[in-house]
Amino acid sequence: MPPLFLQQILERLQSVLSPPRAFVPLHEPTLIGNEWQYVKDCLDSGWVSTAGKYVDEFEARLSEYTESQFAIAVVTGTAAVQMCLQMVDVQPDDEVLLPTLTFVATANAVVYLRAIPHFVDSDMKTLGVDPEKLRLYLKDIAALRSGACFNRYSQKRIKTLIAMHTFGHPADLDALQEICEEFHLELIEDATESLGSLYKGKPLGNWGRLSALSFNGNKIVTTGGGGAILTNDPQLAKQTKHLTTTAKMPHRWEYIHDQIGYNYRLPNLNAALGCAQLENILSFLKNKRALAERYQETFSDMAGLQIFKESEFARSNYWLNALILDEAHKSLRDPLLALTNDHAIMTRPAWKLLHTLPMFQNYPKMDLSLTENLAQRLINLPSSANLIGKCLET
Ligand SMILES: *Cc1c(COP(=O)(O)O)cnc(C)c1O
Repeated sequence: MPPLFLQQILERLQSVLSPPRAFVPLHEPTLIGNEWQYVKDCLDSGWVSTAGKYVDEFEARLSEYTESQFAIAVVTGTAAVQMCLQMVDVQPDDEVLLPTLTFVATANAVVYLRAIPHFVDSDMKTLGVDPEKLRLYLKDIAALRSGACFNRYSQKRIKTLIAMHTFGHPADLDALQEICEEFHLELIEDATESLGSLYKGKPLGNWGRLSALSFNGNKIVTTGGGGAILTNDPQLAKQTKHLTTTAKMPHRWEYIHDQIGYNYRLPNLNAALGCAQLENILSFLKNKRALAERYQETFSDMAGLQIFKESEFARSNYWLNALILDEAHKSLRDPLLALTNDHAIMTRPAWKLLHTLPMFQNYPKMDLSLTENLAQRLINLPSSANLIGKCLET
């Protein structure tokens, strides 16, 4: 028999996730709207690939929903992060600050550009980059010369900060933006997990000069695979579109390309799926919030753990719920993962921290003790929009 504490957690999870199911995944898509119809329309019309009306439609709807002036749809969220970095002119050997608590793609995108990931710590309030700790760190390591920031130890330029909104919870963007101004850094948002989340009432993706979204199958809205870049800068939007569509010059028949571009454009089929998904985002958000509240109520009187809750300045999409064990119970994390997965409730720890992965071990980093401690205590819980109530079409 597992310890009573673990047994109680399991029972409470089962009560939230009732009626019992054969298997409860961490996050699955909810396909209850016009998905079939729009995808069928692509097949019927033959417009399945890089041209067609759904890409434009999807971009327009994204831009409207996120209150960003421009949205450029691309093949993956990873490609979107890479393009954000490229468009603020991250050069080989530049350092890019990013949290160690993120999905591997954030750091991979940095290395694709032959730049250097520089890992920073996250705070317990937002699970995003800790602004105060970052400011103190930069005061120590940064040297400002002719409008640019240099690492006085490595002598390399520190170009950019990537703020990632962990599990959908907004990082403290105003504080991070202030730091970026003080130290002449470009701010980019990795908003791949946080479509639908607000910071001080405004959708995420509007603080960075460019921001990245993902529509992978496990995100709140899916296109099968896909991503998008958001920006409010018309010039950057135009260049990003150009670069992600092979840098082809407009011409009736000639194929002329004016630089090395990328074939990153989202296919029409995927955009069709995305259009249908976006039509239901309000109901997904409503259900995910209700589920988060259920988790919070269910565990509110239980000592030894908490369910992570949005900050006072945030309205989270609650993409993934997180259960955080108290210090005294952290040795029970792995037994809890085993017990819940044995009972067909999929749970998992936070990503293995990036600075501990073999390919990132030798990159620069600050003291990461807050994240290291948090990661030992955190477990993600099933969070699909269809787990609670009815997922009604809006
Ligand atoms: C999902 C995700 C990505 C990448 O998205 P893909 O569409 O899977 O390429 C990047 N960063 C973070 C933090 C993510 O969660």
